[in-house]
Amino acid sequence: MLTPEQIQIQLNGILPYVQKPGRYTGGELNQVMKDWRSVSTHVALVFPDIYDIGMSNLGLAILYDLINLRSDALAERAYSPWSDMEAAMRQSGIPLYSLESKHSLADFDIIGFSLPYETLYTNTLNAIHLADIPILAADRDESHPLLIAGGHAAFNPEPMHAFIDAFVIGEGEEVIQEIIDVYQEWKKSDTRREVLLQALAQVWGVYVPSLYRAEYYADGTFARIEKLWQDAPLPVVKRIVAKLPPPTTNFIVPYIETIHNRIPIEIMRGCTRGCRFCHAGMITRPVRERTVDEAAQAIESAIEKTGFEEISLLPLLSSDYTHILELVNAVSQRFSGRHLSVSLPSLRIESFSVDLMDALKDTRRGGFTLAPEAATERMRQIINKPVSTAQLLETARAIYSRGWSTIKLYFMIGHPSETLEDVQAIADLCKAVLAEGRKTIGRRAQVNAGVSTFVPKPHTPFQWVPCDTVEQILAKQTLLKKALHGQGLKLTWNNPEDTLLEAWLSRGDRRMADVLYQAWLGGAKFDAWKEQFRYDIWLEAFQKCGLNPEFYTHRERPIDEVFPWEHISTSVRKKFLTEDYLWSLQGKTRVDCRERCFACGILPTFADLRRQNPGEVWQCPEVKSKKIPVEAIQGARLEEENSIGINHQLITIP
Ligand code: SF4
Repeated sequence: MLTPEQIQIQLNGILPYVQKPGRYTGGELNQVMKDWRSVSTHVALVFPDIYDIGMSNLGLAILYDLINLRSDALAERAYSPWSDMEAAMRQSGIPLYSLESKHSLADFDIIGFSLPYETLYTNTLNAIHLADIPILAADRDESHPLLIAGGHAAFNPEPMHAFIDAFVIGEGEEVIQEIIDVYQEWKKSDTRREVLLQALAQVWGVYVPSLYRAEYYADGTFARIEKLWQDAPLPVVKRIVAKLPPPTTNFIVPYIETIHNRIPIEIMRGCTRGCRFCHAGMITRPVRERTVDEAAQAIESAIEKTGFEEISLLPLLSSDYTHILELVNAVSQRFSGRHLSVSLPSLRIESFSVDLMDALKDTRRGGFTLAPEAATERMRQIINKPVSTAQLLETARAIYSRGWSTIKLYFMIGHPSETLEDVQAIADLCKAVLAEGRKTIGRRAQVNAGVSTFVPKPHTPFQWVPCDTVEQILAKQTLLKKALHGQGLKLTWNNPEDTLLEAWLSRGDRRMADVLYQAWLGGAKFDAWKEQFRYDIWLEAFQKCGLNPEFYTHRERPIDEVFPWEHISTSVRKKFLTEDYLWSLQGKTRVDCRERCFACGILPTFADLRRQNPGEVWQCPEVKSKKIPVEAIQGARLEEENSIGINHQLITIP
């Protein structure tokens, strides 16, 4: 194995000949460089795509900060090399290495992969291979690092079960510390790798796939998951932090242009809107908020440490944050004259605050983004985004009249029961919004429509529905391309084959691991990149494995079908999801659950955490009685909501 010094020498020879060598050097402002020998545990944090994308990942930035605060551990970073660099590395025998110390990844104790979306899976396999570590978890022993993975895609970990030793389900801030503690104890004990894996399985929020076996019916549908070790938890309940820890502010400042050259400040976590297609909305419950003071101080600290001039307030619908107006005003006042720009990724349409728009006017650049997701009121009722067309047009008028010229509108095609009339309505609505702009600001008005395709994601009320076929998607896109063109209109869309890959991987069972492996052997990688993605490789991989891709995507599931991801519990009960799905078929909607709790399952599972954090920290109702110990959460069967005393007082929404 090459030493860091040998790796550096080899790098010096190849970096002048690859694109953007700044991706591979490290040494940026705020990088943490500890003495390798001064700590007992070495963690490599890997984003399995190129540096330009991975550097904007907030989850890894948080973990990097937290691990490096420990005196007994260090965290370093690694990203996938672009194809030219990978070829040069393989030719020179350079393994995947960390940017900080240039150690080979195989030298680390723990390697943590961030998997926010499924199209990173083949890159993950490629990274393991480039690190010279056995790809299959079953082939690794005590001499190899522990491979863990987390992120939103890990809520259905089964397609990756054969490659990863342990998955973190849910939020990582606390669990990463416990994983390091368990690892250190195991290392001292000098026992076999199985002992480590069993100890990790006892940590709330950790799923160790090798401790379970999956069974299927003769027709190929999933039957059940069985424990291979009696103490393995079933289900594995997601991890949450009861109170959001102070935001990370010590961001590394890249030398090269990355996709987001700005500071991400997470002001809240979770969403209560209940959009039925939304994976994040279901898996990140409950809503927890930071205080205005905490957020404003974090912004100040991050600006001082990094020099960035743009702040992005996260998550996607940060305008739902209870004190958003207060925060934006506080930031405008505190940083007036410093050319600071504040962006909110997307703004809510209904009860749209004109005051918020005015407050953002001085700080925000670029266009306004609104996400109606569907263009007819019928369709918006089905997906539970019950905003009226009149409200949307009124909001558009208000935006144009305040001097903005561009509105970005996000839609999805492929929603359940969608007709071509619903798709045509997308073009009509965009034109109606543009007409409002023309009336207000003339020919400067612009509407950019981004139309993606719906994928029925696990753990959502739409997990039962089929995905559109390539032919159906193409027909809808052709209609839109014809209807949506002309001055002031711009349309962007996804390749239908990309959508199918996302659907196969997000809805896959354990057998999908074979397909994934075959696809990687066939040359699949960088599947999230249009010009790199090879659909034919995936079809061949399915064929080699004797599996039908349509089984995963185009089959409507009976209501009682067991899903291969059900042993992973988001704490939102299947009973709630089923009811919500059946409601959607009748066009019935739910209000934001901050107005009325629908007992989705979060409170029975996390009652004790809620009791310990009263008041507005959470946006769920307070829990009055019956204490459930936190230790009992891991592996606990979810209790019915009526066993808990819930205070049904409404929470005031401004
Ligand atoms: S417990 Fe109630 S308020 Fe909390 S997320 Fe679930 S439905 Fe919403």
